[in-house]
Amino acid sequence: MPKGSVHLTVELATLPLWAAAGVAAGLSRPTLTAFAVCYVASSLFLSPDLDLAWAGPARRWGRAGLLWRPYARAFRHRGLSHHPLWGPATRLGYLGLLGTIGWLVLLRPLGFAAPREVPWALAPAALAGVYLPSLLHVALDRMWSACRRGVSSRRG
Ligand SMILES: [Zn+2]
Repeated sequence: MPKGSVHLTVELATLPLWAAAGVAAGLSRPTLTAFAVCYVASSLFLSPDLDLAWAGPARRWGRAGLLWRPYARAFRHRGLSHHPLWGPATRLGYLGLLGTIGWLVLLRPLGFAAPREVPWALAPAALAGVYLPSLLHVALDRMWSACRRGVSSRRG
């Protein structure tokens, strides 16, 4: 598989193209901002390679990377975590679970209330921002594997 830095470079280098497409499509500034913020956050912190306990994406979380060890144990490398649809859903679900536990254990006892207003109108752009880097990652992994198979079959 390509190195994590290759994935990150491809993902971040293509962001201007997606943003330009969004501008050309007439998307609003808040929509484009939600997309771009989620795209960068997803590229840095929600990589499909979180299924590797100590790979770059888990290390980017710093000490909080420990929180992704159960995820890495639950999902074998390049299994469901690399599925185009379900992979990002598993990470968002896991992150939601961690957030809920964190809120219940740490914030709620201190009197913090759950957010009441959620900007649902931006949810599609945010989801696109989360999903697109994962799709690029999976596509790059698959192209890399196909190229390696092609090289090894020519040798044999
Ligand atoms: Zn991968």
